[in-house]
Parts: sequence; structure tokens; C-alpha cells
Amino acid sequence: MIIVMRKSASDDQIKAIINEINEKGLKPMPLYGTERTVIAVIGDERILDQQHIKSLPGVSQAMMVLPPYKMVSRETKYEDTIVKVKNDIEVGGNKIQMMAGPCAVENYKFTKEAAKACRAAGARILRGGAFKPRTGPYSFQGLGEEGLKILRQVGDEEDMAIVTEILDIRDIDLVAEYSDILQIGARNMQNFNLLEEVGKIKKPILLKRGLSAKIKEWLLAAEYILSNGNPNVILCERGIRTFERETRSTLALSSVPLIKELSHLPIIVDPSHSTGKPSLIPPMTKAAIACGADGIIVEVHPKPDEALCDGQQALIPEQFAKLIEELKPVAKAVGRTM
Ligand code: PEP
Ligand code: MN
Repeated sequence: MIIVMRKSASDDQIKAIINEINEKGLKPMPLYGTERTVIAVIGDERILDQQHIKSLPGVSQAMMVLPPYKMVSRETKYEDTIVKVKNDIEVGGNKIQMMAGPCAVENYKFTKEAAKACRAAGARILRGGAFKPRTGPYSFQGLGEEGLKILRQVGDEEDMAIVTEILDIRDIDLVAEYSDILQIGARNMQNFNLLEEVGKIKKPILLKRGLSAKIKEWLLAAEYILSNGNPNVILCERGIRTFERETRSTLALSSVPLIKELSHLPIIVDPSHSTGKPSLIPPMTKAAIACGADGIIVEVHPKPDEALCDGQQALIPEQFAKLIEELKPVAKAVGRTM
């Protein structure tokens, strides 16, 4: 931290700051200028409360030098994190991972049809919500445990890992028992109690970006999970809410290369919820892979018209298979395999 004192700061006020820094076990380095004094703080400044320091008498500014997160930072761990999901399936390595399936698990038949087609096209991870975070209480809320059972059964039959959303701390054991990756949805990105609790298990966590979360807030949410003991976090850019109404969200793709600079964690992109339009899914998927995403999570449904949730944005299996074919040269161009 760099603390800039006011021109009018008294010697006692400067001494008080120096004492406070010493008491925290950090090393103050005062630089007495002709105009004003600046105090550089040596050590891990994250233990200092920036707002508190700013409020002390005589202080003009207090600037953090380090980012507020630590364990997720590329400065702390330089190598890319590869999250092992199941058997030979991992996220963050050279291979692009495709997670695909219906928005919600509705019944065995649709889940099976979607999974079979996605697996045949090359996807290794099946998605499907059993607990759905719906905007209104009267919309389909998901099948709960029955949905988890269907998802697990279909995943095993098709040799796919499964990813599904966890909404509530009380369901962690249940969801962890059936799934390979637990998804924290956009609406829960800052549910700090939930983040702490999924930090205490070892299963991989797919952490979606909040609807209006800054990149720093998103990384701090991931920090909650890592700092509680779970290093297996996969980030997911799913678009943010802006003034634009033509797309469901605004896909902020620049977060992908930026996250790669700031963090060692793998990052995937959700072209379904970010665009809300099947026609935009193929181009945005290609763009995501081109800019460095480690994978995609996309909604695929055999009968979008009959879907109980998000049918309007689902790809049909044929469109998904075509997308995978079109994606191969893009992946190759950026040195990735599929
Ligand atoms: C989902 O993946 O089904 C979902 C609800 O996504 P998000 O949390 O990104 O809205
Ligand atoms: Mn959905």
C-alpha cells in the first residue's frame, strides 16, 4: 500500500500511521518529501483495511499495490490450473471441453436424447439443471433429486461427466453425491456462505460470473472457494447485464484473455445465456475459443418447443454437431485440440 499524507499532516499524525502499520507486523517506509510525506508499506498489505487507513487523520490517499485476491492470482501460481473432472476428462489443459445438454432435466427421454447426440458429436460433459434458479416462483423449478438421478444415470450410460447447479447450502451433499462438477449460477456468485461451503468439498466448482459482477468481484468469489480449501475452480463467462435488449446479456469476451492474465484458473464461456439466440451461438463460440477459452457450456435440447426452460435459446442436436465441426479449425488455429 502507498499512503499519501496531506500537506497539512502533523508529525504526530504521520507517527500514528507508522505505529499502526508496525502493530500489524508490516514495515512502514516513510519518504519525507518537500511537499508531503508518502509512506510505502512493505509486506502483505491485504491485511490492511484501505477504507480505515483513508479515514485516519492526515491521510490524503491510500492505494493498494497488490490485487485483493491472492490464491487465484497468476502472481501466486504461474502455471495454468488443470481441473481434473473424472477419469480422462479435465478442464484447462490443451483440449477444449464441451459441456452440453438441456437447460433443465425434464425427464429421462429428453435428457438421454440430448446426451447421446452431444456425446456422439464429441462433448464429454453433460449439463442439466435439477434445481433451477427461476426469476418467478411459478416457473418450473426443476425435478430436484429425481433430476439428479436421471442426469447421473444418463451420464454413466453415455460415459459423460455431469455438471449441475447447486442453489442451496442444504443440498451440497446431495448434489455432490450425484454430480462431477457443481455449478454456482450467476445469481449466486456472491452468495458467500455457499461459496465457503463448496470450498470445503473437493469436487470441481463451475463459478459463473454474476449478472453485474466486476472481474475483480468474480475473482474474489473464486478466492472464497480456494481459501476454504478447494482449488478446483472453473470460471464461466456467461455475459453481463447492460442497456442492450437485443441479446439476453452482453457477452463480455474480453474477460477471457484478461482472466488468463490475472489468474491461473481455467475459464469457459456460455454462449447460450449470454446471447439468448441460437443463431448467435456458433459465431460467439468460435470467438470464445479463438480468444483463449478452455471450453464452452451450451444448451442443447431435442425438442426446444417442448422445453420447460430456455427452449428459445437451445440448439437442436444437429446444430450442435455442425458447430463442433466448424469449431475444429478454429481450435487448431489457436493450438488447441478438441
Ligand atoms: C444455467 O446454466 O442454467 C443458468 C441458470 O445459468 P446462469 O446462472 O448463467 O444464468
Ligand atoms: Mn438455461
